Amino acid sequence: MEDKEVTNLMTDRARAIAAAYETLESSEAPFAVHVLASGSQGNATLITYKNTTILVDAGISARRITNGLKAVGLGLDKLSAICITHEHTDHMAGLPQLLKQCNVPVYTRAGTMRELVNRKNLDTKAFCVLTKNNFTIGDLQIETFRTSHDAADPMGLSCYNGKHKLTFMTDTGLVDDTMLKNMDESDLLVLEANYDPQMLKYGPYPFDLKKRVAGPYGHLSNEHAAQALLMMKRPEHLQAVMAHRSEKNNEQAVVTDTVTTALTAEGLIMKQDITIFHGQPKEMVTIRA
Ligand SMILES: [Zn+2]
Ligand SMILES: [Zn+2]
Repeated sequence: MEDKEVTNLMTDRARAIAAAYETLESSEAPFAVHVLASGSQGNATLITYKNTTILVDAGISARRITNGLKAVGLGLDKLSAICITHEHTDHMAGLPQLLKQCNVPVYTRAGTMRELVNRKNLDTKAFCVLTKNNFTIGDLQIETFRTSHDAADPMGLSCYNGKHKLTFMTDTGLVDDTMLKNMDESDLLVLEANYDPQMLKYGPYPFDLKKRVAGPYGHLSNEHAAQALLMMKRPEHLQAVMAHRSEKNNEQAVVTDTVTTALTAEGLIMKQDITIFHGQPKEMVTIRA
C-alpha cells in the first residue's frame, strides 16, 4: 500500500532517475544533487555519491524525505549523515520525526545544535558538532563555511569526490571572500536567489521584514546570485540550481531573466558555460556531475 502511494507520488522525472539508479551498482552511482524541496516552505537536499548519501537540511516532513530517498532508489537506511545549515524552521521542521526513524549523525555547528536541542528537545547524542571546517563523510570530503544570516551559527558547505565539487549555499545576506572561495571551481552549485528587489520593495511584507530579508543577515537577491556566479572561478561548464526562491517576492521567470541578462552581458553563453536550474517547493530537481 505504502509503496503504491509512493509510486503514485513520483514524477516521471523521478521515475526515470530511479530506473537509472536501478541499473547502476551503488558503487557506480554518479555524484548527484537532488533538491527535494526549496523555498520558504521547506528545504531539503540529497547529495549522493557511491555509497554516501547526505541529507542537507530537513525542513520538510520525514515522510517527504523518505519519499525523496525512494525516488532516487534509496531507503532511509542508506542515509550516511544529515547536515543542518541552521535552526530556522524551513531547514529543520522534519528533523525530530526523522531522528525517531533512523539513527543517523546530525552534523551542525555548536550554536545550531544548541538551538535545535532547546527548541525541539532533541538528544545531544544525535549530533556531531563540527569543531573544524574539514572532515569526511563516507566517500566525500566536506568543507563547511560560515554564512551571513540571522541564525545562531549558520553554514554552507562544499563536497568533493576527488574529481568534482559541489557547493551548497542558501540563507545568506551577502557573499564574502570565504564563501566565494568555496564556490570556486564548483561544477555543481546550489545557490540562493531569494528575492527580486522591486518585488520585495512593493510586495506584502511589513517594513521590518523587508529590511531583514534585504539586509546583510537576510537572503541573496537574484542580482546578488548573478554577481556571485560572475565572480567565482567557474569550471568549463557549471550547473547551478537557483534555490530558496521567495513565493511572495520573486518568480522563476524573474530569476531566469535577471541571471541570464547579467551573465550574457559579461559574455557567458547559457547552457554552454553555465546551465541554470530552479529549485521547487514540491518537485525534485536533480543535477549530476
Ligand atoms: Zn534561514
Ligand atoms: Zn531558509
